Amino acid sequence: MALRKLVAGNWKMNGDRAALGELAGIGAAAAGHANVDVAICPPFTLVAPAAEQAAGIAIGAQDCHAAAKGAHTGCISAAMLREAGARLVIVGHSERRADQHETDAEVRAKAQAAIAAGLIAIVCVGETEPERDAGNALSVVEAQLDGSIPAEGDGATLVVAYEPVWAIGTGRVPAVADVAEMHAAIRARLTGLLGAKGAAVRILYGGSVKADNAAELMAVPDVDGALVGGASLTAALFVPIIEATARVG
Ligand code: PEP
Repeated sequence: MALRKLVAGNWKMNGDRAALGELAGIGAAAAGHANVDVAICPPFTLVAPAAEQAAGIAIGAQDCHAAAKGAHTGCISAAMLREAGARLVIVGHSERRADQHETDAEVRAKAQAAIAAGLIAIVCVGETEPERDAGNALSVVEAQLDGSIPAEGDGATLVVAYEPVWAIGTGRVPAVADVAEMHAAIRARLTGLLGAKGAAVRILYGGSVKADNAAELMAVPDVDGALVGGASLTAALFVPIIEATARVG
């Protein structure tokens, strides 16, 4: 089943108010390619102003707390993000799994909180290089899905991003055959976990997506879009990825 593609940018801990000027060009490209959904996930401080300025693109965040409110100093709830204008939120990014030691159970709880608050949850999974070298990439990702995917998720509320850790920010991407194998395995696992709903959940590829490799990656079966880090920071870098994705359809 061909799903409508989503190209989502993850600005990580980059950007300031001046950087929001990039949203105009990104929004114009999104408006000109109506067959693709486009999102930008800036730092928390920019979610509200980005949502006020952005036209034609959804604004998201890069994390949320699993609880709705309470004594969690420094944290942000999904409902707060929703009120600030976010429409989606990334959870379980490998940088948070590594730096903040987030577990699969915590990632699932965050995804559940996001969905309960009316956000789309983008759940990230992906193997490290030693795990791939050991031949364990599929089993690692399947275990992450088993632990992180919320049962209530469906095509409208849940997106999965496959991001091999070794491909993030390195300029290295897996062979197309390896991307195809992994995305097919993720689709099968989603169907196992969610039943028929799993067929409608978009599976993004992330890890060094650029203008020059986007078309090839987006044409892989069960690649339903991209999660883009570095190349989402400027319209000059991001728009060609939107255009390449729109051409693949
Ligand atoms: C990411 O960290 O989500 C990512 C895909 O980064 P990059 O595109 O820079 O590899």
